[in-house]
Parts: sequence; C-alpha cells; structure tokens
Amino acid sequence: MDSDVAPPSPLTPVTEEWERALCVVAHPDDLEFGAAAAIARWTGQGKRVVYCMVTSGEAGIDGLRPDACRPLREAEQVESARIVGVDVVDFLGRPDGIVEYGVDLRRAIAGVVRRHRPEIVVTNNFRDTWGGASLNQADHVAVGRATLDAVRDAGNRWVFPEQLQDRVEPWGGVREVWAAGSPLAAHGVDTTATFDAGVASLEAHAAYIEGLGWVDWDAREFLEAASRGAGQRLGTTFATAFEVFSMGWGD
Ligand SMILES: [Zn+2]
Repeated sequence: MDSDVAPPSPLTPVTEEWERALCVVAHPDDLEFGAAAAIARWTGQGKRVVYCMVTSGEAGIDGLRPDACRPLREAEQVESARIVGVDVVDFLGRPDGIVEYGVDLRRAIAGVVRRHRPEIVVTNNFRDTWGGASLNQADHVAVGRATLDAVRDAGNRWVFPEQLQDRVEPWGGVREVWAAGSPLAAHGVDTTATFDAGVASLEAHAAYIEGLGWVDWDAREFLEAASRGAGQRLGTTFATAFEVFSMGWGD
C-alpha cells in the first residue's frame, strides 16, 4: 500500500569548501551516468578535479574486441572529461569485468591518491544494489570498496612505502569519500545549472552507447529521470546524490 511507503528523506548539501577532488571509478562512463553534472559545477567554481579509471572499459562493447575497444573508450572518456572541465584522466589498465578487491588494487589507488593529494574523493555506488532489485556490477563493488580503504592507506607511510620516492609523500588530507548514486545516499548537490554539460559528457560516450543497442535510448531523458528524484529530495530541479564517508576519526 502506498500509505506504507515513507516519503524520501531530504538530502543534506555536500560541502563545497574544498579545492581538489579525485574521482576513482571502474569504467569509462561510470561518472557520466549521474555525477558529471556535479563535476561541471565544481570545475566551474574553480576547483581542480582529476579522474582515475581503474579499467579502460575494453570489455564493454559486445561487437568489438577489447584491443580495438580500449583506445576508443579511452578517447571517449578523455573527451567527456574535457566537457566538464577535467583535463587529467589516469587509466590504471586493470582488466575490465574481472577487477578484484584486494591489496594490489588498494596499492594502485593509494598511489594515485598520494600523487594528486585530493581533499575529496568521489567514487561510484559500491553497495550490492542500486536500490531495490537492481544488482550492482562486480567491478563497481570492488573499486568503491578499495577506494575507501586506499584513501586511508595513502596517509600511512608504512603502508606501500615503496611509493614514497621522487617527492611522493603520504597523503592523509582526504576529508570525505563520496559514493555517487548509492541507495543509502543522504547528501546531494544541485546540478540544475550544469545539467546540460552532464548530458553532453554522457553523449561523448557515443560508441559505447551505440554498442549497448538500447533502442530509442536518450541520454537527456535518462539523466533527467535519474536526477529529478534526487532534486526533489534536495529541493532543486536536478541533483546528484552521494553517500558520504567521513575519513576523520570519531566523527
Ligand atoms: Zn561501470
């Protein structure tokens, strides 16, 4: 019965008092399915945002062999980043579809955190589902979980100490990790003014979207539907929702 369904709880705005963010996700396109409009907002405020792709999404197009797919998807990601004001995209080259959570993945991500020294780290939803029965994808779960742990690893000089050379120092300055699109999201950011940039950023994945073979699928319609619900909870037209993990001790 409808009367048994609790109204969606309001979202609290995320802090925007920071200057550098690092986004770590499994695949090209992961940020564009919801978070890119938020990133456009932040780069428009003069913040510096860099991307790290754990894989190159080379197993993402059924009709294209990975060796042919990889450069195509990397190029599409670089362009979609450029559209929202991001000019650094690191590719870690892990195999698409079979990313494993573990020390090796934490090491790779900790190295990226130490090089870029962000205050905020953005990743994708790594809960088991997107809410309801919609199952999350294995790479997303592994990468999100490893990112959360790697942020803490990056601040400890005795963890992965071999990375501490050539002026690379431990970095314990990440205040929060934000998981975009989590079903447990309680925070959000207004993306109304930068919504179009988010759409253009998703449309830059043209070969990938074409390869999915979704008939009559439209990037704008998809993002409107996805962003409107979060907007209602934040009190704006459109929004991106995040589950926020504080990296401080005892707060
Ligand atoms: Zn993905």
